[in-house]
Amino acid sequence: MDPKQKELNLTTIKEVLRQYLHDKNFRNTPERYTILEEIYNMDHHFNVDDLYLLMMQKKYHVSKATIYNTIEIFLDAGLIRKHQFGEKTLTSSSYEKSYFDKQHDHLVIYKKDSDKEIQEIIEFCDPRIQGIKDAIEDAFGVNIDSHSLYFYGTKKD
Ligand SMILES: [Zn+2]
Repeated sequence: MDPKQKELNLTTIKEVLRQYLHDKNFRNTPERYTILEEIYNMDHHFNVDDLYLLMMQKKYHVSKATIYNTIEIFLDAGLIRKHQFGEKTLTSSSYEKSYFDKQHDHLVIYKKDSDKEIQEIIEFCDPRIQGIKDAIEDAFGVNIDSHSLYFYGTKKD
């Protein structure tokens, strides 16, 4: 992404966070902005451990409790989304930045003969899904705001 656009995006999401914290009467701590910036500099999905390690590598000391708490805030503020990639361990929910992203879906590929160990996650966008959404809206007379679709599998031989 062009650096100017990236800078502009960071300004936008920080403003979204500032407004959210203000509206909810939450403390406006600088570490929340640092964590948000790190997330928006990433180009992939992450879990709490990844984020914790990244912050450590940057010599930025935050507790895991702070990261968990901050993630809940970002989720509620619509800045990130949570994923169900079906990992076995309950502690490893995945997340990704979501504020500017186009809707996309995920294909989760597990390693063969493993206990749901993830080999790869592919993001895809299939316009037919929009068609299904339109048809469901018409059939049931509703407005659909979001959807969640995951395919899980293993590589063919
Ligand atoms: Zn994704």
